[in-house]
Amino acid sequence: MSLKTCSKCKVNRLVSEFDKNKVKPDGLQNQCKVCRQAYRDANKAKIRESDRQYRLNNLSVLSDKAKQRYTEDPDKVKSRVNKYYHANKHTTVASYRQREKEAISKRQREYRQNNRELFRQKEREDRNKRPERYRAKYASRRVRKLQATAPWADNKTIATFYTRAAELEGSTGVKWHVDHIDPLQGHLVCGLHVAENLQVLPASINCSKNNSFKPYIQNDRGTFYLDVKYKLVKDKEIYGIFL
Ligand SMILES: [Zn+2]
Repeated sequence: MSLKTCSKCKVNRLVSEFDKNKVKPDGLQNQCKVCRQAYRDANKAKIRESDRQYRLNNLSVLSDKAKQRYTEDPDKVKSRVNKYYHANKHTTVASYRQREKEAISKRQREYRQNNRELFRQKEREDRNKRPERYRAKYASRRVRKLQATAPWADNKTIATFYTRAAELEGSTGVKWHVDHIDPLQGHLVCGLHVAENLQVLPASINCSKNNSFKPYIQNDRGTFYLDVKYKLVKDKEIYGIFL
């Protein structure tokens, strides 16, 4: 095996330790692989920028060459692209997002602004398909306005009430609401938007409640509510009348 002296580190090395370069008289790079790699490592940003400039200045030449490579052997190109994509997808996608963070969010913002009607339409369609998601969303929005959230509220459990209401609506064919047992804006007391204060009720009953706090009695036989017409009720059964 013949030797060649690296123009950078001046070490005599095997020709296999040099990259190929068709333009050079001996078909090899002047610097050894180690020196060239060291240069690339030390000048990453500079090289990336000059590569970018080169690509911008030679768009048509490069795309013609790429087309030619594809025409000659499409499977080779496909498998190379595929292999590269799968080997690097996490790092390349993440670094691209990181690098272009501002540009991406600007683009998304503009897209949303220019397609506002499309987004509204999509939300309407989605709301018809998965109403329970939106009910929980709108309820929590309403509740946030009322400042009735408790720091210990369990949002997952709260969401199950809205799912249950949607299920009951599907099986019974009438509207069901998630009701706050003690109303959020009651006349006497204000309830909280927490699972402990939620119940699923047919809308007809819920709407007749009219945000009034019902005084109740709790004893070993259960909880008895005093309804608006001064009847003592449990499970819709009337137990007595208050005068
Ligand atoms: Zn060298």
